[in-house]
This record gives sequence, C-alpha cells and structure tokens, in this order.
Amino acid sequence: MKLLVDFSGLWMNVKRMGDGISDFSLSSKRSDLGDDLFDTELSSTEGIEIDLSDLEVDQGVLSIKGRQVLLFIPDQGSKIEAVLQGERHEGKRFHIADCKTLENMKKAKRFDRYMVTNNLTGRFKVYGWTKFGANLDGDADLNVCQNCLKYLNYKNFSSLKKKSERYERVNDFNIVNFLTSYSTLFKSFPREVSKEERTGGYGDDWKSVSQAYRASLNYQCESCNIDLSDYKNLLHTHHVSGNKRDNRVENLKALCVDCHRKQPLHGHMFVKHKDMKLITRLRHERGGAGMSGWKEVFAMADSAVEGLLLHYQRKGEELPHVGYALSDGSNGVIAELEIAWPSKKRGVAISAKDFLAARKAGWEVLTVGDAIRNINA
Ligand SMILES: [Zn+2]
Ligand SMILES: [Zn+2]
Ligand SMILES: [Zn+2]
Repeated sequence: MKLLVDFSGLWMNVKRMGDGISDFSLSSKRSDLGDDLFDTELSSTEGIEIDLSDLEVDQGVLSIKGRQVLLFIPDQGSKIEAVLQGERHEGKRFHIADCKTLENMKKAKRFDRYMVTNNLTGRFKVYGWTKFGANLDGDADLNVCQNCLKYLNYKNFSSLKKKSERYERVNDFNIVNFLTSYSTLFKSFPREVSKEERTGGYGDDWKSVSQAYRASLNYQCESCNIDLSDYKNLLHTHHVSGNKRDNRVENLKALCVDCHRKQPLHGHMFVKHKDMKLITRLRHERGGAGMSGWKEVFAMADSAVEGLLLHYQRKGEELPHVGYALSDGSNGVIAELEIAWPSKKRGVAISAKDFLAARKAGWEVLTVGDAIRNINA
C-alpha cells in the first residue's frame, strides 16, 4: 500500500479541536454570518454560495466550516423545464466528495455559481431559462455524481460492473443516510436534524413506550448486544416496519445509535465520534475474542470507514482490527484507531489526538481522508 503523507487532514482536525480559532475566509458575503444564521442558510434548499477553493476536502467528503455539505450548480440552463418536471437525469449532478469531476472543475476555473447545502430533503434550488428566454426557478431533485460514489467507494460502488446497477444506486441514493454515515468526522450536524427528531411522526405516548421497551431488555442493543444501561440515551427504539405509530412489541427493536444508523434507509441518526468510540469499546468488552471475519468487521466498524473496508476486502487485504486500542507498556492506552493492522503498525484514525499519538509511537497512521485519497491514487 502506497502511503502519501498529507498533513492537511491532520491540521484540519487540529484546527477543529481549538474551538475559538477561525481563519476561514469564505469569499462570499455569507462568511461573516454568525454560526446560527450560517447553519440556517446552509440547511435551506438554496444553500450558500462558495468559491471552490473554500471547500474543505481533507476528509474525502466535502465540508465548509466543519459542516459536511453537498455541492451543486444551481444554473441548469435550458434544461430547467425538464429538471423542474422531475427529470433528474437532465440536471447537473450534485457532489459529495473530492471527485475527479470536482478536480477538473477547480482546474477549469469556470465562472459557474457553486452552492453548498446540508438540506436533508434531497431538493435543490435551481434556475435556468426557457426556449423563449423566460427565467424559471424552483426546487428540484438532482442526481448524485457517480464519480463521487466511486471516489468514496460508497456502498462498494467501485465494484459495480453494470451500468444499470450504477443507475440503480444513483436512484436509490439517500442524502440523510449518506450524511449520517460520515457523521463521526464532523462536530456539527445539519440544522434540520433536531427539527426532524422533534416532529418525527411518533404517537403521543411514544416516549413512555420506548422507555418501557428498552427497560424490559435491560438496555441491551438487540443487534450488537452491548449493555447501555449507563448510557441509555445511546439506545434507541427502532420501528422495524418503518411505521412510527405501530408500537406493537413485534415492530420494536432496541438498537444502539450505530446499529440504528446502519439500518437500510435510515434517517437522522447522526453519531458523534466520542459516542462511537464508547460503543466500540463496549463491543470489545462484550466480545473479547476479536474479529473472525469481514462480517464482524463491518458490523463493528464506524460507517465512515465502510467504503475503505469494502475496498480493502476486495483487494484481499488482511483482516483489520476495529477500534484498536494502541498501548505502550508504561502509559496504557495511548490511541484508539478506527482500523488497524498491528503486525504492520498501520492504521486509520479519526481524531487528531489519536492520529498524533499513534504517529509518535512509530505507526504509519492515516486520516480517513488520506486513506480515501490513497485508494484513489
Ligand atoms: Zn463528484
Ligand atoms: Zn448495537
Ligand atoms: Zn429507526
């Protein structure tokens, strides 16, 4: 495996750790917005205008001021009528990663308007003109860029041989699912999350039903079996059928936040890195024996590294350790790595602290963004 040393990811993390430090300069006038207004505008379908050079790409996925975003070109030109009528394939693709197309766009220095958003509805504010020269605008669905899916190897996209399979993935692409998969890489989550959680369509007695259900299981995750009685907020009650008003016991399942976000087509399960680390630690304590196959690796690992793991699996890499506690004799655990190959002293870290400590201990450690860049090199 070729190792490219790129410290940009590290410094981004370091910067993010120091809360007060901000030397971002967004070219648009939006830059001086306070955090609150910034998040409100970012969560709209219109989004915030940016220069491509302001886009942060160190994590592999796209972000602005530490918020994960989607990038789109609002100007649909003469295709606007078709796009507004729901013909998604006619529209310009939106981007989710530092893909080949984005690289070319940066080099071309065209005068397109670029917008970023973290709106969760899948709608984008677009405009264009009719053949009679009239201006049109409105909210529309757009397709995700295939080069982005390939770049991240999102849900093993690079392994798909058939065009029809790739189209199907584009059609099925779900923005909330995507953003929640990478949530541990970011400190701020989309504004809409809390709103959605408040008005999620649950029945009135939901709170007490959920509480009683989880208590009846002694706060154990029904999927990975960890005991969350000391961290009850990390255990959710999931509706198996998706119908949030069907509270029959056979439709309920207690899931830790990570097992919950790994459910197909699941919404608003943004997991903080510190919570993910705790869950990983509890899973280790429960399991003890270690990873016996890729299936366990995927069940255990943070979904932010799933695309990487799928790539390593396909390339026949050795089975990695997940949530590896790196210790040196005297100081105990000095770093926790998302994935690691201890015999080779290689690994991938999410937090800057773990990254630095592992590197200091002589490990070849990469950030998630650098690992993603490597598999594309
Ligand atoms: Zn792209
Ligand atoms: Zn679980
Ligand atoms: Zn659920």
